[in-house]
Amino acid sequence: MTAAPTPFLSRNPADPADILTEVAPVGADAVAAAVERARAAQPGWLGGGAAARSAALSAIAAAVEAAAAELADLAVREVGKPLAEARAEVARTAAVWRYYAQAPYEPTGAVHESAAGPGLLLTRRRPHGVAGLITPWNFPFAIPSWKAAPALAAGNTVVLKPAPEATACARRLAEIIGQALPEGAFTLVTGGPEEGEALLATADALSFTGSTTVGTAVVRTATARGIPVQAEMGGLNAAIVLPDADIARAAGHIASAIAGYAGQKCTATSRVIAVGAALGPLREALAEELRTLAVGDPADPATVCGPLIGERARDRFAAALEGLPPLAAGTAPDGPGWYAAPAVVEKLPEGHHLLREEVFGPVAVLLPADDLADAVRITNSVPYGLVTSVHTAGLDAVLHGLDRLDTGMVRVNAPSAGVDFHLPFGGTKASGHGPREQGRAALEFYTSSRTYTLTPAHTM
Ligand code: NAD
Repeated sequence: MTAAPTPFLSRNPADPADILTEVAPVGADAVAAAVERARAAQPGWLGGGAAARSAALSAIAAAVEAAAAELADLAVREVGKPLAEARAEVARTAAVWRYYAQAPYEPTGAVHESAAGPGLLLTRRRPHGVAGLITPWNFPFAIPSWKAAPALAAGNTVVLKPAPEATACARRLAEIIGQALPEGAFTLVTGGPEEGEALLATADALSFTGSTTVGTAVVRTATARGIPVQAEMGGLNAAIVLPDADIARAAGHIASAIAGYAGQKCTATSRVIAVGAALGPLREALAEELRTLAVGDPADPATVCGPLIGERARDRFAAALEGLPPLAAGTAPDGPGWYAAPAVVEKLPEGHHLLREEVFGPVAVLLPADDLADAVRITNSVPYGLVTSVHTAGLDAVLHGLDRLDTGMVRVNAPSAGVDFHLPFGGTKASGHGPREQGRAALEFYTSSRTYTLTPAHTM
C-alpha cells in the first residue's frame, strides 16, 4: 500500500501559526481526468460564440471588482503581500479580465489575394484545446488571470495548477471564475511538482511562470511532446543610473524595486549600476531610502517590505548575505513572521553568487560603471534578461541603450517592477522562453494559424 502524500500547509508569512489551508495534492490521475473533462468541454466553449465568451469574461471582471477588498486581504494573509500592492494586484486582475473580454470580437485572421486565378486565401487563428497553466505564488490572482483570460477568450478551456503556497487565493479565484463559465471550461488542480508534471504530460499547450530551474525542465518536456510552451522565469535585473539623473527620485524608485514585496518579484532590482559621478550621491541616497523604508506587517497599508514567503526563503536569504557587510540596510521587525532586513551591498568579487543567481529577497548589489557602454556590458553579463530600468534626464542614454540592452523590457525613469498589463511581458535568455505573455501577444500564444485555400468548383 502506498502512503498518502503529505499535505502541504499554507501559512501566513507574517504569522506562521496562522494556517490558511491544508493542501492535499490531488495526484496525477486527477489532473489527467481534469484535462479530459476540459477537452470534452472545449468545443462547446468555442462553439458558444464570441458574445458568450465576452460576457463571461466581463462577468469575471465584475466579480473580481466586487470581491476586491476580500481578495486583497487574502493575498496579504496567504502570501504576505503588502496591502497597497495586494490592492493594486486585484485591480490589475479585474482590468486583465475586462481587457480580454473584448478579445473574442477581434479579427482572428486575414484575407489574401490568390497568386493565380480566382479564389480566396484565408488565415485564421484557432485555439489549441486545453491550456495548462502552472503558476507561482507571488502574484496569486494576476498571473493565473493573465494566462487564463486570453486562453479562454481565444476559445481554449483551462486547467490551472497554482503554487501550493497560494492555494487559498487560487481556490477563491477559481470559485469566481467558475461561477461565470460552463462546467469544465476552467478547472483548478492543487498540489506540487507531481501535479505540474501531470498537467505538462496531458495539456495541449502549456504556460509556465516560476523559477528558471523548473521552467527550463518544463520547456524541455513540452518541446519533446511537441506542444506550444511559454515560460516566464527568474531575473537578475539592473537599474542603470546616469550622472544626469534626478538621483533622489531614482533612489526612491530603485529602493522600492529592491525591497517592495521583500524583493519577491521577477522584476525586482538586484543590481544597481551607477555610471561615473552618479556613484557617490546614489550611494548616499539609497542608504537613506533603505533606512526609512517601511518594513513590517503586510496588513499595514504603509508597509513596503513585508515578510518572505517561508522559513526556507528566509534562511536562504540570510545565507546569501552571510559575511557581507551591508552598505545600507533596513530593519526587520521582531516577531514570528519570516522577515528579513532589506540591504544593499557593494564591492563584491567578480563571479560572486549575488551577481549570478536570483536570491528572490530584498537585496541589491551596487556596482560602478565607467560609462554607458560599460553599464550596458555589466547589465548584459548575467544569464538572465528580464527587465532593465534606466534613470536619466537625457535622451541619449535611452536611445543608445535601448537596442543594446539584452532584456525583454526596458523602463526609463521608473522602477524595474510594474509593467502594464496590456503590453507584451517577458524576458530573454534564462528569463523567458517562447512567445510573450499579456496584451495581444498572449492571444497569439493560445492560438495557432491555419491557412485555408478556397477555389471555385466551376469556371465562369
Ligand atoms: P517554482 O518554480 O518553485 O514553482 C512554480 C510552479 O511550478 C509552482 O506551481 C510549482 O508547484 C510548479 N512546479 C514545481 N516543480 C515542478 C515540476 N517539476 N514540474 C511542473 N511544475 C512544477 O517558483 P515559485 O517559487 O512558485 O516562484 C518564484 C519564481 O517565479 C522566481 O524565480 C521568480 O522570478 C519567478 N517568477 C517569474 C515571473 C516572470 O514573469 N518572469 C513572474 C513571477 C515569478
